[in-house]
Amino acid sequence: MIPEDKVAEIRERSDVLSLIGDYVQLKRAGSSHRGLCPFHAEKTPSFYVHPQRQFFHCFGCRASGDAIAFLMKIESLSFVEALRVLAERAGVEIPTETQARDPQAEREKAHKDKLYAMLDLAAGFYLQQLTKHPHGHIARAEIAARHVEAKTAETYRLGYAPSGWDGLSTYLRERGASLADAEEVGLVAKRRDGSGHYDRFRHRLMFPVADIHGRIVAFSGRALSPPPGEAPSDRVEAKYINSPESAIYTKGELLFGLYEARVEIRREGWALLCEGNFDVLALHQAGLKNVCAPLGTAFTEAQAKLLRRFAGRVTVIFDGDSAGKKAVTAAYPLLAKAGFAGRVVTLPQGMDPDQIVRERGADAVKQLVDTSPGIVEALIDNAAAESSGNAAERATAIEQLGPMLALVESPVERQLYVERVARRFGIQDVEAVRAQLRRGLGDRRGKSGPAPAPKSSVPRTNERVKLPPLESELIGALLDQPELLAAAETEGALELLTSPELQSIFRAAITVVQKRGVLDAGMLLPLLNESVGEGAGRRWLEERLVDPKHDVPQARQIFEDGIKRLREGQQQRQRDQLFRDILEARREGDEQRAQALTKLRDELAKSAIRQGPKG
Ligand SMILES: [Zn+2]
Repeated sequence: MIPEDKVAEIRERSDVLSLIGDYVQLKRAGSSHRGLCPFHAEKTPSFYVHPQRQFFHCFGCRASGDAIAFLMKIESLSFVEALRVLAERAGVEIPTETQARDPQAEREKAHKDKLYAMLDLAAGFYLQQLTKHPHGHIARAEIAARHVEAKTAETYRLGYAPSGWDGLSTYLRERGASLADAEEVGLVAKRRDGSGHYDRFRHRLMFPVADIHGRIVAFSGRALSPPPGEAPSDRVEAKYINSPESAIYTKGELLFGLYEARVEIRREGWALLCEGNFDVLALHQAGLKNVCAPLGTAFTEAQAKLLRRFAGRVTVIFDGDSAGKKAVTAAYPLLAKAGFAGRVVTLPQGMDPDQIVRERGADAVKQLVDTSPGIVEALIDNAAAESSGNAAERATAIEQLGPMLALVESPVERQLYVERVARRFGIQDVEAVRAQLRRGLGDRRGKSGPAPAPKSSVPRTNERVKLPPLESELIGALLDQPELLAAAETEGALELLTSPELQSIFRAAITVVQKRGVLDAGMLLPLLNESVGEGAGRRWLEERLVDPKHDVPQARQIFEDGIKRLREGQQQRQRDQLFRDILEARREGDEQRAQALTKLRDELAKSAIRQGPKG
């Protein structure tokens, strides 16, 4: 655990504005900054960051919190992970003694850090070779032939692994880098005769593969046409060579482009999943920046789970050939199990997304994506289109759809799919179709896909309770200008408030301002967890914190007017009460008490008049 005072220090030294500025384009709006929310799709900005209060809030989706909360949400980090990232950014050291020193774990971490540094060094080398090496133009020509713009190439840090056998090895040796480390991550291999190392990636276009923290953990190298004067090698070269697994890279656990796409995926709420590296680049360039791809492997369960951390919906855009269709069929159960709602873009026979973008333009692809059918619909339609007239074959095709439909959770949806199967296969009897589908389930019958964990719904008490308008206006003005909060005369307002929520907010705000000098949202909001909870008061407060409405003179005016009116209201209530008491005394024949109360009421009325004009 990270000690409490460290957490406070990290919180204090973290600047929410510069952190969020790395993800969102912010524009100044009064004392706040405003931009498009990274957590939901929107066209007009409703996402606010208040730098003094170290707080962000979205009026659209109600995401809000401090720097830690932002980082946890946008990068899918735990509280402790987010703290570590912020600590590093802010240059705060976290004492290692506190995490029960484990020499083994520390050695491993140090070793991994060395491997990350090695891959980073290599990426820098490949990037430099793209322009410096005499054969770099071949890689640049390939980039140009694929219509990859310079900016895109830069975003994905494309590079060139030079022809020859020892470009990287020499570079690393000259820098005193460990060739054993380079060997461990598969950049170089030992020569058979034991006389040193040779490069594993030679004359290839290099795609670095980043983990979700943006650290390069592997490379994917694409073959290029041979350098001038060299005969094409008689060996058939693999189109792609990928880094082998290592301490920092496990196959099938990462997605190419996910790091670059993560913010957009979260913002849009869905991810576009394609097959190839160039598809990722082309779709990104076409404006579909929420795109990623499995790395040279079939889509895996681990990848589905990883992606699920960022979005709830996925659209698959695989090649329009039979391999592509098979890949969709294979991906579906994994997506369903991870709880994804899936759609699938069917491309014309023999085309891949990269080609479509090049030949038909960005809009054509977007159109295909926008109008893509649900993945189950597409699987049914494909199965029907591909099965011939042969009755036995058609029966088998239906049977094979059984397990897929079993993964559909909603009974209504499942029923609609069964009807679709009947329609597409031209069968009148829906019950017969159902029976055939069941046969496909075999002994799995009855065990439909695991239900995803129910979403925890935040209890919203007091959701419909409105705050009294005059009181919230007054407290709002004070929150806008905390210097007024600290002034002595404002405390008198406390006894005039009738809303317990506003009383709690007011009291907590005074405490925070007295302690911090500013209205620090990160300190204020936790103070209110119990008294205000998730109700209307909290929502009102969050919105007010990021979007103050009044400057000091206005706020003072509103406060003074408000106090006066609240006091008048209070006195009116007192007079009403007295009036009722007088009536009651008379009814009971207690003339003496009635007269005393009347006198009191007249005095109250007089003092109200005296106070009136002065305020
Ligand atoms: Zn939002």
